[in-house]
Amino acid sequence: MHTFASSISKVFYGTLIHSLSIKEIEYIRQGLLFIDDEGKIAKLVKNVPEDRVEAELEGVDEDRVVRLNDDQFIIPGFIDTHIHAPQYTFCGNGHDLPLLEWLDTYTFPRESKFADKEYAHKLYTKSVARSLRNGTTSACWFATIHLDACKELVNIIQEQGQRAYVGKVNMNQNSPDFLIETTESSVRDTRAFIEYVNKTNAQLNHKPLITPIITPRFAISCTSDLLTELGKLAKEYNLPIQSHLCENMNEIGFTMSLFPQSVNYTAVYADHGLLNDRTIMAHCVHMKDEELDLMKEKNAGISHCANSNFNLKSGMADVRKMINKDIKVGLGTDVAGGYSPSILEALRASRSCSVARNADTTLLVTELFYLATMGGARVMELQDTIGNFQIGKEFDAILVNTSADNSPVDVFDHDSIETKFEKYLFVGDDRNNEKIYVQGKEVRLPDSKVASHK
Ligand SMILES: [Zn+2]
Repeated sequence: MHTFASSISKVFYGTLIHSLSIKEIEYIRQGLLFIDDEGKIAKLVKNVPEDRVEAELEGVDEDRVVRLNDDQFIIPGFIDTHIHAPQYTFCGNGHDLPLLEWLDTYTFPRESKFADKEYAHKLYTKSVARSLRNGTTSACWFATIHLDACKELVNIIQEQGQRAYVGKVNMNQNSPDFLIETTESSVRDTRAFIEYVNKTNAQLNHKPLITPIITPRFAISCTSDLLTELGKLAKEYNLPIQSHLCENMNEIGFTMSLFPQSVNYTAVYADHGLLNDRTIMAHCVHMKDEELDLMKEKNAGISHCANSNFNLKSGMADVRKMINKDIKVGLGTDVAGGYSPSILEALRASRSCSVARNADTTLLVTELFYLATMGGARVMELQDTIGNFQIGKEFDAILVNTSADNSPVDVFDHDSIETKFEKYLFVGDDRNNEKIYVQGKEVRLPDSKVASHK
């Protein structure tokens, strides 16, 4: 007989922390969170004293209940709205150059190696594992121009169980001869990639976690013809779109020299059918007011990549202004412009960036945590699927332990759950991420014995 209890795969009992809005974090004490067999949040009961737990379980077997201790809590998984899978191979290196020189010197030669599928398999396995280990349950990945390596990245993400948007990068101009496509091959391979992901998804016995995303590297590396074709593909397959926007002044100047018919850089994408509510633009550091207004008008999202913007000396994005204009904003690690694949580091860099811009309008902890979770969900247009623990959403989460082995966080008697949580945000790292869940299933970490997401 199909009963409520039989549909429940897991129940968590303990402290749950999530964002209700950009202004409010909810701390749920003695919460009972029920996850169903599709990985969705079926029920949430707050303030359940120990002696009421059994009654509230409604017949769910005790062996499905995970009981948290006082140093453990569950938060929604982090959402990395901008990361380059091939660039993880030189993460932490080469911050001596500004963007365009950095691309020529470090990035393009490295990315060209992904023409080799075996190489891609080996390196992408590490990129994805590192991202997951850091608590990124959803990521917007840039791959490279190489079709086979892009498919390999999809296979690896599928195997490791991350939720992801995966983009085959498009580049048909202003790129080195060892990393360039023709318009025709770029469109053909993008279509083949989309079909591959769709076919893979059709064979799953659970709701797909991977979505192809249209990924012109940036306007500089794509001709107007190619951008137009990519806009058409996004529409034909109803896909999200990602690219880079207003990262650095030289980039903006070069872009406007290539697209003089557009009124500004943001309009270049809009003019090619690439700016809509499913668009994610990384950086947006040097945006004119009319460009931010265009983002708002199109309901496009911004990936704020403060770590990268500091490293490549690109500038400091005005996130306060974006929030005030109610533009969707999430956080991005932008590995390897950013030196860390951790959204915790992105959160800290975002705070420093906001302080350095204007100490009177510093981003608050409540806002930073929102950007790392719900903000990212909105940017991915997945706000009804993930981002917090609302009933009916899919359970993507981190079980944090502030007293884990070798924890960088020290907990004292005076600590409350609020101070432990804040310590995790500013002092913690992946050692505190005891378990990571995507769509209700515990994901396989490289040195863990847990079965992979199937
Ligand atoms: Zn980037």
